[in-house]
Amino acid sequence: MEPLPDFQLLKPRSVAEAVTARAASAHARFLAGGTDLLANLRSGLIEVDTLIDLGAIPELHRLGAHADGIRIGAGVTLEELAAHPQVARDYPALAQAAAGVAGPTHRAVATVGGNLCLDTRCRFYNQSEWWRAGNQHCLKLAGDTCRVALKADRCYAAFSGDLAPALMVHGAIAEIAGAQGRRELPLGELYTDEGRAYLNLAPHELLVALRLPAAGGLRSGYEKIRIRAAIDFPLTGVAVALRRDGERVGELCVAATGTESRPLRFAGLEVLQGMTRDAALVTLDKLIRKQLGMMETHLVSAGYRRRATLVVAKRLVQRLFAA
Ligand SMILES: Cc1cc2nc3c(=O)[nH]c(=O)nc-3n(C[C@H](O)[C@H](O)[C@H](O)COP(=O)(O)OP(=O)(O)OC[C@H]3O[C@@H](n4cnc5c(N)ncnc54)[C@H](O)[C@@H]3O)c2cc1C
Ligand code: SF4
Repeated sequence: MEPLPDFQLLKPRSVAEAVTARAASAHARFLAGGTDLLANLRSGLIEVDTLIDLGAIPELHRLGAHADGIRIGAGVTLEELAAHPQVARDYPALAQAAAGVAGPTHRAVATVGGNLCLDTRCRFYNQSEWWRAGNQHCLKLAGDTCRVALKADRCYAAFSGDLAPALMVHGAIAEIAGAQGRRELPLGELYTDEGRAYLNLAPHELLVALRLPAAGGLRSGYEKIRIRAAIDFPLTGVAVALRRDGERVGELCVAATGTESRPLRFAGLEVLQGMTRDAALVTLDKLIRKQLGMMETHLVSAGYRRRATLVVAKRLVQRLFAA
């Protein structure tokens, strides 16, 4: 790792101040827990002249009941999220996803906003500067060819944040603040399928909070497959939310991370409504197979990650049915 480059550090006290500071400099970045950003800075993956520390903005740290659901500030740490009683009771997939990110010292400082805005990852990109230079770089940074798909004019680096699928199966809405005011959108729409520009956020826009509706009988779970069980990004991570209607499916949502450049909520699952568990598992398998488009962005093969996604999704459905 290289030493950190020089930068100025700003510490705004409000969302408006943070957004104004970000709009003033093309090479500024928001700094939350810094667990991803600082590692990427040291590796020479990003260039900054200003870091805008979000740690002193009270609005970002609020977490609690809201209308008929919950509101989670972007500055809430993953440790706080995993331990929150309402999250653990009503949104178990989210508590499990938060508890499974990196290691305990990361989770003590890493935030919800940083996890959702995490840079996409690829075995040709998350390397040291000398490694990348020795391999003539790639399309995502300083090169003209994608090493994963040689003729591609896009980047396939994979989004690997654990929280997004768990929030998506619970219908999360993202609250965003920018120089032109505030807006909100379903969390899935925060992402694009392009590894270089993976967020639908203008550079000056800040993720402020997530709102989740009441769980209303939905049971959920999250499971990830990783190389090192104690501390690692997901090779694949799957969240499932299920509402049972007696012995049949009332509602089923499934979303995954680590598979594409965006977290993927699988479409077309309404057809499972009214099916028995076993019939739903057969149709779910077909629906997921059709929608997964993983590329060779990891050291572990896309074929393995694809099979693991299917296994984990079906295992979670079985577990939630039995719960
Ligand atoms: C060894 C190691 C293991 C890891 N394992 C995992 C893992 O298993 N799962 C996983 O999901 N992640 C993992 N990570 C990545 C990272 O630690 C987490 O994703 C963490 O949640 C990032 O949060 P942060 O607050 O530290 O973000 P930061 O590093 O501060 O920021 C990350 C990015 O988000 C932007 N950002 C931060 N907050 C906002 C906001 N409110 N609005 C707009 N942009 C914002 C920053 O500008 C930056 O681009 C790992 C990292 C390391 C070093
Ligand atoms: S997917 Fe291609 S362009 Fe993107 S980081 Fe990997 S090698 Fe580079």
